[in-house]
Amino acid sequence: GVFGIFSDTEDVAKLAYFALYALQHRGQESAGITTFDPSGTFTRKDMGLVSQVFNEHNLGDLPGIIAVGHNRYSTTGSSKIANAQPIVLSTRLGDLALAHNGNLVNALELRTGLVARGYTLESSSDSEAIAYLIKEAVDAGKDWREGITETLHQCQGAFSLVIGTPEAVIAARDANGVRPLVIGMISKCSPDRPNCSPDSPPSYVFASETCGLDIIGAEYLRDVAPGELVWLDHNGLNSQFWTEERSPKLCIFEMIYFARPDTYMQGESLYTYRLELGRYLAREHPIEADLVFGVPDSGIPAAIGYSQASGISYSEGLIKNRYVGRTFIQPTQAMRETGIRMKLNPLKDVLEGKRVVVIDDSIVRGTTSRKIVRALREAGAKEVHMRISSPPVTHPCFYGIDTDSQDHLIAATKSVESIAKIIEVDSLAYLSSEAMLEATKSNPQHFCSACFSGEYPIPVPDKLKRAKLV
Ligand code: 5GP
Ligand code: SF4
Ligand code: MG
Repeated sequence: GVFGIFSDTEDVAKLAYFALYALQHRGQESAGITTFDPSGTFTRKDMGLVSQVFNEHNLGDLPGIIAVGHNRYSTTGSSKIANAQPIVLSTRLGDLALAHNGNLVNALELRTGLVARGYTLESSSDSEAIAYLIKEAVDAGKDWREGITETLHQCQGAFSLVIGTPEAVIAARDANGVRPLVIGMISKCSPDRPNCSPDSPPSYVFASETCGLDIIGAEYLRDVAPGELVWLDHNGLNSQFWTEERSPKLCIFEMIYFARPDTYMQGESLYTYRLELGRYLAREHPIEADLVFGVPDSGIPAAIGYSQASGISYSEGLIKNRYVGRTFIQPTQAMRETGIRMKLNPLKDVLEGKRVVVIDDSIVRGTTSRKIVRALREAGAKEVHMRISSPPVTHPCFYGIDTDSQDHLIAATKSVESIAKIIEVDSLAYLSSEAMLEATKSNPQHFCSACFSGEYPIPVPDKLKRAKLV
């Protein structure tokens, strides 16, 4: 998750902290904030959650009018402190601080080129290559705008970037806009903002999702467009396209699962979209049952939609421990295996003797589902029918969602019937691709859905493909 702010009236570090706190679901391995003031940059970054990395005291050591923030979960590069962001480099024009969400498909090539030209890379991330390319261009005499534009043309893959410089915060999205990025405005004055008068100009911010705006009282202006470069400085907000070859392909998985349900993408509420997926699912795959519930939290909106469209009563069936992180995001398979037991507990009195429909947003490896089904039966459920509010995940993602290699994706090699046997359900059905795309308010052509179809909108180099495709 990424965040950026330019403001002479706000405590930029504190706002970055709260925005990152709201964006915590986008990455839980490391968190960091860099601020800029006239004397230079100040950075704090470390492994762990936002609330573990920052406190009132160390946020006070981050002064300035610009802040860039980042939450990380690894896609390219391992889970270690050297890969924590923002990445800060000094250049001919002062420091730059870069926060990246997404994944480049040509990272290896870019890194090899940089090393051959004499740069020593400290981390193993694709993001570091972007930062060094900007530095290289700026050190060679380009201004920030030229240096960044030139760099973006060399990057293939998914990137939503927030870049801090001594005078501006800059946001950019790849030509397909695979990962989200939005612009917000803080215009209101309140007693806790003593430097702000009713006629002072608004402050602008960038955040991965609108939930990162809500928490700091920023108004959602719009999404950064695919291929757009947005500039925030003393003159306010201005923008241009850095490329002419634009083709919107927002990650449909952001809509279905990854982003928070209270977030809006392209003006559309993800909660409402997920309800709609559940309604479609009920129409496509009806079943006779006594109650329907969702796997917390991500399956819940679709379960409510399923209940609405089917007339089957909605109930809670599983209770989630709120203080356990997402099982998927923790890096090892061993941690994932134990994750579910820590996380979900069935409600025996609700389930006893009932025919239940369990809704989840997706099945990736199938390990979560099987554990859930077993737990439901142990708790007394008579029949367990599973309905999934997305199609079978058959292909890995190369654009910044850390789905496993294809041999770990249960639907890559197995039919729906055999998956049903493996996860031990009485019946199993998935939403169709058509319904998934039809249910959005946006143009269905404007999404990436490669993990369901194998049609990758950005060409993936063979070498990368071989690592993850069987
Ligand atoms: P699995 O089938 O892999 O055992 O688990 C699928 C469950 O993991 C779903 O409930 C889904 O909400 C959750 N999940 C967590 N992270 C991800 C992710 O990045 N992609 C997908 N598809 N599901 C995820
Ligand atoms: Fe999203 Fe799937 Fe496309 Fe990756 S492959 S960007 S997860 S839709
Ligand atoms: Mg889930």
